[in-house]
Amino acid sequence: MFMREIELRGHIIDSLILPKVFDKILDMGGDYKVLEFEIGKRKTDPSYAKILVIGRDERHVDEILSELRDLGAEIPEIEDVELKPAEKDMVFPEGFYSTTNHKTFIRYKGKWIEVENQKMDGGIVVYPEEMRAEVKTIRNVKKGDLIVVGHKGVRVIPPEKPREGGGLFEFMKSDASSEKPKETIIRKIAKEMYEIKEKYKKTGKGGIVVVAGPAIIHTGAGWALAKLIKMGYVQALFAGNALATHDIESVLYGTSLGVDLKTGRSVPGGHSHHLRAINTIMRAGSIKKAVEDGILDRGVMYECVKNNIPYVLAGSIRDDGPLPDVITDVVKAQEMMRETLKGKDMVLMLSTMLHSIATGNLLPSWVKTICVDINPAVVTKLMDRGTSQALGIVTDVGVFLPMLIEELEKLEKEKEIAKKSKN
Ligand code: NAD
Repeated sequence: MFMREIELRGHIIDSLILPKVFDKILDMGGDYKVLEFEIGKRKTDPSYAKILVIGRDERHVDEILSELRDLGAEIPEIEDVELKPAEKDMVFPEGFYSTTNHKTFIRYKGKWIEVENQKMDGGIVVYPEEMRAEVKTIRNVKKGDLIVVGHKGVRVIPPEKPREGGGLFEFMKSDASSEKPKETIIRKIAKEMYEIKEKYKKTGKGGIVVVAGPAIIHTGAGWALAKLIKMGYVQALFAGNALATHDIESVLYGTSLGVDLKTGRSVPGGHSHHLRAINTIMRAGSIKKAVEDGILDRGVMYECVKNNIPYVLAGSIRDDGPLPDVITDVVKAQEMMRETLKGKDMVLMLSTMLHSIATGNLLPSWVKTICVDINPAVVTKLMDRGTSQALGIVTDVGVFLPMLIEELEKLEKEKEIAKKSKN
């Protein structure tokens, strides 16, 4: 038998870190003994546990400890990280440390350094002269980059449940469910979005990214997304060919996939409308050009162009056309999405499994994430990424978006009145 002590600090009980640590040790065939345990008395007090991890031999305990580090355990007798140079471009050295989406620190030359550009499924590159470290994806690794190998000297801090009382994410921390009071939730989302928008207006920092699928247009809620952009609640839009195409189709023909958005009836020959829409934009050269030429005078893409909101339209194998603005090199699209996400406060994912999961994979675990989909399985998959600030709403996006606009307008009016009565 071999044993090592570990320590856990913080809100380890209600963030479920403690039971996860116990489960992991037992799942890996080890055992444990709780040596010390102090529970924080007040809501804001951290708890502390000292645990003895028991395994078959040193190697077995090391394996368990490396998993526990990713759950946030502190292992005393901290050593520096072990680094190995990449032997080739786009190749990590054998045994490289594979990142999580949680805040991560490495110990290098006796100092703890926060790892930049955190995302899951990457490696950590260390720049000794600058005493800096960042996550790099496999494609971006260059020969000679110093890469962290093993788990030694790596510290992961999983997010803790927000404790501010009554906040949106505290209120809703539970499984995705369709049986939740939608109006109350949407009001809370509107409040959170309003605060982010105000901060963005003042500082130019942070903001909201919307990831949008074509169901928004099919359900007749395109106007609501366009309005959200116009009202200043969207700092970037991620979508695919379908959202942009059907948005443009709805502006040019009043249909989405050939269905009249006013009557809900299929229009004769309407199935070709989306191709005609693509053809129109091809002729203009780009969506921006179509807006400048007056061909496109409203809608989601129009508002993006008019309000200078960057958009990333990422290609997929099922695309018709695609529109000239669609980035068909997925690696390039992924890079642009990663860059755009830097420093953002919130991501609102609306009815697209493909683009929502792609965005989820690029996000660190502390970014507020809201996912709206009619299919509970999609919402659960997206919420299940270890972020404490994730909210899943199972509903029709065609109902959600207009309600969100209504709540935002109400809130803006209330704030306006409050401001006037103050002056
Ligand atoms: P997806 O399957 O990834 O996601 C669609 C999601 O919408 C599903 O999770 C579904 O449950 C949800 N949904 C459907 N109706 C809803 C509603 N009323 N309310 C809430 N959620 C609802 O598909 P996608 O994102 O639409 O498309 C995948 C890719 O294919 C994208 O890149 C898209 O641009 C492309 N595409 C291209 C074309 C085209 O070029 N003609 C057509 C369709 C899709």
